[in-house]
Amino acid sequence: MHGGNDACGARAVARCTELGRAPYSQMEGGLFRPYLGPSYRATCERLAQWMQDAGMATRMDAAGNLIGRYGGQSPDAPVVLIGSHIDSVRDGGFFDGMLGVVLGIEAVAHFARQGKRFPFALEVIGFGDEEGSRFPRGMLTSHAVAGVLESPDPDMTDCMGTATLATALREYGLDAKRMHMASRRDDPVVAYVEAHIEQGPVLEAEGHALGVVSAIAAQHRYRVTLCGMAGHAGTVAMKLRRDALAGAAEIILAVERVGRAGGDGLVATVGSLEVAPGAANVVPGHVAFTIDVRAGTNATRDDAAREILHIAHQVAKRRGLGMDVVLQQDLDATPCGPRLTDLMKHAVRAVTHTPARLLVSGAGHDAMVMAHLAPVSMLFIRCAGGISHNPAESVTDADAGLALRAMTTFIGLFERRFG
Ligand SMILES: [Zn+2]
Repeated sequence: MHGGNDACGARAVARCTELGRAPYSQMEGGLFRPYLGPSYRATCERLAQWMQDAGMATRMDAAGNLIGRYGGQSPDAPVVLIGSHIDSVRDGGFFDGMLGVVLGIEAVAHFARQGKRFPFALEVIGFGDEEGSRFPRGMLTSHAVAGVLESPDPDMTDCMGTATLATALREYGLDAKRMHMASRRDDPVVAYVEAHIEQGPVLEAEGHALGVVSAIAAQHRYRVTLCGMAGHAGTVAMKLRRDALAGAAEIILAVERVGRAGGDGLVATVGSLEVAPGAANVVPGHVAFTIDVRAGTNATRDDAAREILHIAHQVAKRRGLGMDVVLQQDLDATPCGPRLTDLMKHAVRAVTHTPARLLVSGAGHDAMVMAHLAPVSMLFIRCAGGISHNPAESVTDADAGLALRAMTTFIGLFERRFG
């Protein structure tokens, strides 16, 4: 196909769609492509064919990632990695992860058609496990590539109860004890670039096709329990109550208020609430809920979390409730490489003719693991309604074409900066 970037954007969307059904999916009437399953093998074979057609040499690394290499001007040239993930959640969308892999192939095809070689090699990498939808651990394979894989349990069983990690790898001729050999620590990897659907509604709401990720969010997740006094809803007078749920309600509204007041990608959510005893005629004596706080920097997250917990303590004290807080998840922010972010902003501006919208990724991505290896850059692509992890995921041909142009422009700018 020589129809320029718009036709290639359409081809990228068509390829993702093709990979959404059997044999590339192992779920009737929807997409499920778990790491190292039969659908994974079929998908890797199809992707490898497209990589070879685009002028790349293909291989599978020790962690089961698919890699296509388009050599640089010299055999020992540094490497720019372009990628995302091949696996999907159960009943997922066609574009989560796969669009980034397929756009990487299109970007290389674009340069191969011109016979263009860079002072660096371009390698397109499809990560095998990002979602953790088969084994109870996500981002296993980017950890291996980044050289930060702490020996995974080879005996962990998959969600279907049919295989362990060791047996699943063995079917691919791979060895759980050698997964860490996928590490690129000793290679001159100079950048990792990932294009991904936004998985949120901001770009669409603001009328942007593309966005540039400044950082992947820092996250704190707490479990809070409030202990009051259960009692008869008809007989315990209002001012004698210690209602744990009414206290939780006050705290939940404070979580929302603090989240709304912040900048820097701050979001704060109470997503789960359990009430005991949970009967219509009983004053709630016991409530447990989660607080999830994310932001573009650790400092913004920490300030917001501190303020929320301060308010929660005050509410509990005033209402005579016992309160217990456990920090369940603590993830640092991953800033994208500032120089790469600048180049990506230039690239997006050049192709969309509007200033690039910078945003924080509230969701985790392989890029946050790859940042242990090299500076990373992420390009976000608008998806309809912000819907993801859902068969209704949708991206337009035109937006995919713009994303491809932004990526090829970025690589051109990187070459100039690189020289
Ligand atoms: Zn994804």
